[in-house]
Amino acid sequence: MSVPLLQVNDLKKHFPVRGGLFSRKSNWVYAVDGVSFEVQRGETLSLVGESGCGKSTVGRAILRLFDITAGQVVLDGQRIDDLSPGGLRSMRRRVQVVFQDPFSSLNPRMRVRDILAEPIRNFGLAKSSAELQARVAALMDTVRLPRDALNRRPHEFSGGQRQRIGIARALAAEPELIVCDEAVSALDVSVKAQIVNLLQDLQQEFGLALLFISHDLAVVEHMTHRVAVMYLGKIVEMAPRQQIFTAPKHPYTKALLSAVPVPEPGADRNAIILKGDVPSPINPPSGCRFHTRCPFVFDRCRTEEPELRSTGGGEWVACHLKAVPEVPGPLGDPR
Ligand code: SF4
Ligand code: MG
Repeated sequence: MSVPLLQVNDLKKHFPVRGGLFSRKSNWVYAVDGVSFEVQRGETLSLVGESGCGKSTVGRAILRLFDITAGQVVLDGQRIDDLSPGGLRSMRRRVQVVFQDPFSSLNPRMRVRDILAEPIRNFGLAKSSAELQARVAALMDTVRLPRDALNRRPHEFSGGQRQRIGIARALAAEPELIVCDEAVSALDVSVKAQIVNLLQDLQQEFGLALLFISHDLAVVEHMTHRVAVMYLGKIVEMAPRQQIFTAPKHPYTKALLSAVPVPEPGADRNAIILKGDVPSPINPPSGCRFHTRCPFVFDRCRTEEPELRSTGGGEWVACHLKAVPEVPGPLGDPR
């Protein structure tokens, strides 16, 4: 087995928040609290969950946008969570990001030509200015934008076109992994499909790995290889796409899927309806963090935290139940 492209080991990101206007005491937000996973070369792993579950924080930790509290982030066998500025530079080339809103991440005063030239220049990827210009033009072909648009500025493009520019800018660095943080969430349905198809084509063409952070399960189902479901800073289930979407094991995964509109009326995915809001990541619930909303909760869940355990077939589940019943109801022993 070759070394995975990305390994995240027991990653934690906690940060303090002030208790209140006159309070000197600070509380801690457990945004990411012990997350482990791997991404193979050429693979798409999707991180899904409701907003506030910590999925974007995981993405930002991998990009080294801040220091982590504990754990390790390993790229191609090398730890990147403790890199010096020099080492960070090469890591930054290999791991790129596409954010939700290309408008705020693209400099409005720069022409597309300069936006795309910047990373090529910064990472020393062209030997001459002729090569630089050739690469910039080729990037436009890669993301299916006309070359004559190179002299325009971001506001002259539609949302979908701007996202293509954002993708081209990420590709300019010749990355091995792209973190897509809600990269298609702001787009109209038809444009969304085009961008998702483009990402899939580019993955094939360049052997890219994608960490696809999204709350949009319909998009995820269409394009991912594996899924990790997060709840309040932890992964509760991780499995190949097929298993997640046809035979989810964790009650929270089942509930998330129940919330996705099903095309055929009457088709019931053994709906579990989620009650209440996600609790605060400040002082999260004891035991299983999902216990305040889980229809299957029993005593042990309130005190003992379930470990993420392998159930075979590349599937991992964190739940005290051996098998989760199809519908909530009275539960008999043994569990
Ligand atoms: Fe529900 Fe208990 Fe499983 Fe948590 S451990 S998901 S509360 S049954
Ligand atoms: Mg987010």
